Amino acid sequence: MRSPRRCSRNGCPRQAVATLTYVYNESTAVVGPLAAFAEPHTYDLCEPHARSLTAPRGWDVVRHEGEFEPPPPTTDDLVALAEAVREAARPAPPRPDEIEHDPHSGPQTGRRGHLRVIPPSH
Ligand SMILES: [Zn+2]
Repeated sequence: MRSPRRCSRNGCPRQAVATLTYVYNESTAVVGPLAAFAEPHTYDLCEPHARSLTAPRGWDVVRHEGEFEPPPPTTDDLVALAEAVREAARPAPPRPDEIEHDPHSGPQTGRRGHLRVIPPSH
């Protein structure tokens, strides 16, 4: 049985969700969604390593902007499926765009939940 793809960084046990490709003739490191097949000059990375990757001196990094999805399961890869389900079940830290934020409310103006402070009429 084939094991799920792991991050290629030394000692990193996490599941790979992205593929780093070195495009040597353009001095560019491309971090994209996990490639279907491993190719020369490609390295699988977990999400933290994919997000924190920095290019070697003189190189550019082109990073996939968006969520890295775990690879879709294949019928002969139940271990990967179980792994993906476990990953999905794990509580993730809130992303900045999910944190409730109303740019128009400004500083606290007496609005708390469903209660409103009614200014005195006299
Ligand atoms: Zn990693």
